[in-house]
Amino acid sequence: MRIFVKGLNSCPMRKQNLEQYCSFIAASGHRLVNTPQEADAVLVWTCAFRGDLRDNSLHEIDRYQNELGVRVIVAGCLPDIDPGLLRSRFKGDIIPWRTDIQRLKEVFGSDMDPEQFRTVFAEANICNDTMKYRRENPDSDATFHDQFVKLLVSEGCRFDCSYCSEKLAFPTYRSFQPEELMESCRRIVAMTGRREVILIADSLGEYGCDIGYTLPELIRILAGAIPGVKLALGNLNPASFLQYFDEMQELLCNGHIRHLNLPLQSASDRILKLMNRPYTKHDIGRLFGMLNDKCFTEFDTHLIIGFPSETDADFEETMAFVLQYRPKYILASNYMESPGMASAKIHPKIPTETRQLRLREFERRMKQAGILCNTDDSELSADRLRRLNLVK
Ligand code: SF4
Repeated sequence: MRIFVKGLNSCPMRKQNLEQYCSFIAASGHRLVNTPQEADAVLVWTCAFRGDLRDNSLHEIDRYQNELGVRVIVAGCLPDIDPGLLRSRFKGDIIPWRTDIQRLKEVFGSDMDPEQFRTVFAEANICNDTMKYRRENPDSDATFHDQFVKLLVSEGCRFDCSYCSEKLAFPTYRSFQPEELMESCRRIVAMTGRREVILIADSLGEYGCDIGYTLPELIRILAGAIPGVKLALGNLNPASFLQYFDEMQELLCNGHIRHLNLPLQSASDRILKLMNRPYTKHDIGRLFGMLNDKCFTEFDTHLIIGFPSETDADFEETMAFVLQYRPKYILASNYMESPGMASAKIHPKIPTETRQLRLREFERRMKQAGILCNTDDSELSADRLRRLNLVK
């Protein structure tokens, strides 16, 4: 078969899965092609952690089937996040991420083991300044991460946030061995000449839990092996930073950490508890206070606005927190409900208009305070969907 592989993933981590699938498909005797028009079948990695991304995945499946008349194979996150909806719209072959090893063999008629194609994903930076690059290349899907060399260190997440549907799709937590990561990192740093590396993972702070290592140990290994390397840490649950507080603080002081992405989601204790986030406002105040005390300004966060039962007071508390500690950048998302998640059972729901008003007010106050802020229903985010569909 001639196969066109299309990633609709909005996170960079899944590029590793796509690389693995492509290697497996080619080794199984099929031919990878560059356009859907040349293909007998299109394999689509679907994304579905938000309603707009789920709808985009469904729309693209329909488009390939109806407009191009090509056979579609659906892989990725949607099959486990919303199987009922997918089945009501699609009758073809499905490869859910969680059970992909067996399904890949069945769908592509192969005896090969897809596991042997699972290698460390390391990717060169595509620019030095994302904003500048996007102005010059409007059809490219460049994100903040693309300023760094990327290194995927693990996949999966063991936290149990009440709103998160991605965990329905995640396989069991798996880390790459530090030696493999060190070699890949060394190679790509030598190739690019760039020493700013972002460690990416679905939940970075749990790195090594399955192989007897910890995140601080990995950072020390990489920093020891690659002189001058500076690491950005993506998707680092504040609970993990707090778990290794002294070690992480030391690594920060030693200059090994270039940037921190610490998704808070809220700063109201009541809402944090309902979200099942394992920290309190006092805990994150200690963490962000330490960053402020050390004059470390390279950190950003993510917040969810309009979580069920969020009051004006909860909202104001979160806003006051970030105004006090001033992350460099904030992504504020409107709460989106996923059926079947624990948060779907929490009431009262916040009306759409109230959520929108809070989001707009939040954005206004951040801009007024000189804090970079983006919202997931902004033009920038809408534009990202367009770019995701354009980029192979
Ligand atoms: S659902 Fe989550 S893990 Fe899956 S592709 Fe989208 S962002 Fe990535």
